[in-house]
Amino acid sequence: MVIIMLGAQGTGKGTVAGLISEQTKLPQISTGDIFRLNISEKTELGIEADKYISQGNLVPDEITVPMVANRLQEKDAEDGAILDGFPRTIEQAKSLDEILKKSGKKVNLVINLSTPREEIIDRMLTRRICSNPECKLIYNTKLHPPKVEGICDRCGAPLKQREDDLDPVVINKRLETYETQTAPLVEYYKEKGVLRTETVSMSINRMGKDVAEDIINNVLKK
Ligand code: AMP
Repeated sequence: MVIIMLGAQGTGKGTVAGLISEQTKLPQISTGDIFRLNISEKTELGIEADKYISQGNLVPDEITVPMVANRLQEKDAEDGAILDGFPRTIEQAKSLDEILKKSGKKVNLVINLSTPREEIIDRMLTRRICSNPECKLIYNTKLHPPKVEGICDRCGAPLKQREDDLDPVVINKRLETYETQTAPLVEYYKEKGVLRTETVSMSINRMGKDVAEDIINNVLKK
């Protein structure tokens, strides 16, 4: 089964993908995480990708698409995957269709998370991630703080803020990029009949874990 997480930054894609991955054992493939790991290890890919990421722009398809295609060929993705952060443009979605077709797969479910913009910015500013690349658990200092400030509950590593969550100019640029380049994917997948839109918002007391629970119990187990 191939599941795609869609939605603006800070809507909780990573949290929902992580919870569904734990239940289904499908690997969570986050393009952002792969880039961040490469940036921290200063690989050639990381140095190149950082030029775009630090400005809030998308990394070009020549880099991103083969990276995802290779990752999907790994053994753990034999039965599918949860793609978190890919595709982000119609072109990438078309490339993904082609990649999946080669192994007899297709996109089965697209979970589109929607959150009011004011909340999104706040969630990005209060987001913290575990610095251990094996863990990467996501926290929020207001909504879902760790038991001990600055320390991951799961593995004990220090928490950190993402570089691209620090600068309001970059945050706004990323949201603008989402609106112009990624939001059209909602229609693309609606037409294919695989879209499921979910609101994540404090105003209705519905968080990522509630969405994940619903999808696990009402969609995946049926
Ligand atoms: P994310 O962790 O998904 O918010 O991604 C962080 C950054 O990595 C994005 O702001 C982009 O610069 C880059 N990125 C992640 N996924 C993609 C993608 N599918 N295509 C192009 N750039 C991406």
